Amino acid sequence: MRELPYKLRAKIVAKRPERLFERLHVHLLEHDVDARLSGGSLLVDLPAVSGMLRLMEGCIDIDIAATDLESLYFAKVWLQDAVAEERAFGTIRIVWSESCLQRHLPPSFSVLTVDDIVDLTPRMRRIRFRTADARAFETLDDMHLRILFNFQELADEHASRGSRQGSSFSEVTPIWRVYTVRFVEPENHTIAVDFVLHSAEGPGSRWAMGARRGDVVGAAGPSGGGCRDAAWYLLAGDETALPAISRILESLDERATATVIIEVGSPSDTIFFTSRAAVETTWLYRDDRDGDCHGLARAIANMEFPDPSRKRFVWMASESGTAKAVRATLRDRGFTKEEQSVAAYWHAK
Ligand SMILES: Cc1cc2nc3c(=O)[nH]c(=O)nc-3n(C[C@H](O)[C@H](O)[C@H](O)COP(=O)(O)OP(=O)(O)OC[C@H]3O[C@@H](n4cnc5c(N)ncnc54)[C@H](O)[C@@H]3O)c2cc1C
Repeated sequence: MRELPYKLRAKIVAKRPERLFERLHVHLLEHDVDARLSGGSLLVDLPAVSGMLRLMEGCIDIDIAATDLESLYFAKVWLQDAVAEERAFGTIRIVWSESCLQRHLPPSFSVLTVDDIVDLTPRMRRIRFRTADARAFETLDDMHLRILFNFQELADEHASRGSRQGSSFSEVTPIWRVYTVRFVEPENHTIAVDFVLHSAEGPGSRWAMGARRGDVVGAAGPSGGGCRDAAWYLLAGDETALPAISRILESLDERATATVIIEVGSPSDTIFFTSRAAVETTWLYRDDRDGDCHGLARAIANMEFPDPSRKRFVWMASESGTAKAVRATLRDRGFTKEEQSVAAYWHAK
């Protein structure tokens, strides 16, 4: 485990800790996290977080270290969510040993208020939010943000807890999901997020479907990286990648060339792109199904790529199965780590 400045310890007490340990390992691997077993411990390595899970008698001991408080906060949220998913295996209790992270919001927290709602397609809703510091989200190096959908409930619970003596643990689990900042209008103090209204039940999609002007959510960020400088780009993905691809295309200049391949449910899900670059776009359709983009993975596998002597970059985001297939193609075709950013934006269950 790496030595990093911010630390957190936890103990998960469970009826069958060995089963939970196995499930957490699988969960980490499904989320493309570098998690390996070593001498009975599970070592987890991420750019900003390092962790160790040890299976003990009746419990799992956990050590987490992070480069900053924000990453530590979200490592804690991740663990709470992962454990909550496993409640079917019996009663599970997490005991946090550090008091520093009993804070109920991350350091970069801000409040977003719904200002305007427009449907771009039947399954893509643009929501403009008013925020105190829109400029903070203006960077192309970190295009994403996390949205806290139950902020109001968390704030109410926190306020009522404040008036109760001796109770220090929140009973409300924060519900965060990751989105892309589609654009920023600092002069209007607004940012826009394009939400995919998918048909599976999820707090993010459900909130966007019912959003009204004046509704309030929480936000953390910006975070999550951006796109590299190149002469030739492949930009690919499903509906969830459209906001980031649109933003990348708008940032390219006339010297760049971009091949764009997108797989969406149906022709009604297509949108227009604006760019100064030379752009060639191919739309593929899944016959109205949600899920894996087999067509997209196949199209990329069958592509002719430019020679590595040309500065090239692949940016791709989609459901995790498709992202995995594309990573394998790029590995086979000799793309280096520096020449690609392939992300799992969601996980089919
Ligand atoms: C860096 C990053 C940027 C992202 N940017 C955007 C963005 O700008 N706009 C956007 O809409 N999404 C974006 N996403 C994807 C978004 O975070 C996920 O789709 C998220 O799961 C949605 O949360 P939920 O609460 O609606 O569903 P969850 O509670 O996470 O999942 C509930 C169910 O819905 C299914 N599901 C989740 N997402 C989808 C989907 N897109 N299509 C079909 N089924 C789905 C799951 O498989 C599960 O069965 C981004 C993700 C990342 C990591």
